[in-house]
Amino acid sequence: MKKSNTINNKVLETNLLQWYDTHQRVLPWRSVSGYPPNPYQILLSEIMLQQTTVATVKDYFSRFVQRWPTIECLAQATLDDIFHVWQGLGYYSRARNLHTCAQILAHDYKGVIPSDEKTLLTLPGIGPYTAAAIAAIAYNQPTIPVDGNIVRVFSRLLCLDTPLPSLKKEIHSLVRKMIPPRRSGDFAQALMDLGATICRPRNPRCEICPLQTICKGYIQGIAQNLPIPAPKEIKPQRYGIVFWLENKDQEILLEKRPAKGLLAGLIGLPTTQWREKPWGLTSKEMLPYAPEGVEIWKPLPKIVSHTFTHFHLELQILKGKCTRPIFGIWSPLENLKSYALPTVMKKVIQTATDHSV
Ligand code: SF4
Repeated sequence: MKKSNTINNKVLETNLLQWYDTHQRVLPWRSVSGYPPNPYQILLSEIMLQQTTVATVKDYFSRFVQRWPTIECLAQATLDDIFHVWQGLGYYSRARNLHTCAQILAHDYKGVIPSDEKTLLTLPGIGPYTAAAIAAIAYNQPTIPVDGNIVRVFSRLLCLDTPLPSLKKEIHSLVRKMIPPRRSGDFAQALMDLGATICRPRNPRCEICPLQTICKGYIQGIAQNLPIPAPKEIKPQRYGIVFWLENKDQEILLEKRPAKGLLAGLIGLPTTQWREKPWGLTSKEMLPYAPEGVEIWKPLPKIVSHTFTHFHLELQILKGKCTRPIFGIWSPLENLKSYALPTVMKKVIQTATDHSV
């Protein structure tokens, strides 16, 4: 593999931007040609796009801007309302940070989204990638957010064989020198669009690519094998027990999760800790986590599986009947959907209603 860190910048810029002017994706947060971008919408979309695909984010984004059209409106919303509209997007800490960020911007910045990366980086929920994306796309600052698409395009253009994740750093410093100052935001978005639609992970469409003549990966016939992936990470397995408690009015007991930790502050069913050692159903070790006053817990035959970023989880559901008053959040089964429930708890509810003991 012939590796090279140089490329014809002029051809890159001209061909890429010409292609972008006619082939750019239509995205709800992207401004129509001739109109300036809306920095609030760029910030909102970039926070939503952390860990989530464009296809998924589109509808959520539209619902958010319809309900909260400005940063000031979002700052005045309650966190529960935000969680509710965020439901299904996952990684709820993003929603919490977005709310705090909106409040800071509304109160300390008079509702104006900062344009420089340094200030953006001081805001909750905004890391280096998001700060660069907002600065470049909303304000045309000469910076670039290096996402998976941009990494893939440049690893192929330059035939880079450094494996991920180190490759990302290498590309970041190379691409910064290539940003055209007049159209920095378009340059970044054009690379993202090219990566998403032409230079795809599998089957890149080199035959219609505007960068074909300068692409070293294409010329050497190895584009498809780049970038070199990171060694596969093995996620640990964790186990938990979740308690499905029903009272005589057929209501289910819910609880608010602790303010810190995974799924913090969200509503869910009572559960044990999620640990690496399986829980013994015959031992009494899970009882301190169970709602009090229930004599018999019956296990459901079906186990719920869910994968978080850092671990796989298996949840055993135990069903019990409540015979005396217990203080807590009691919800009729049909109203459970009105709570901002994390996906894992939705799976538990689905399984508990589909299966009997
Ligand atoms: Fe990607 Fe092919 Fe274009 Fe090279 S020629 S940038 S590999 S689509």
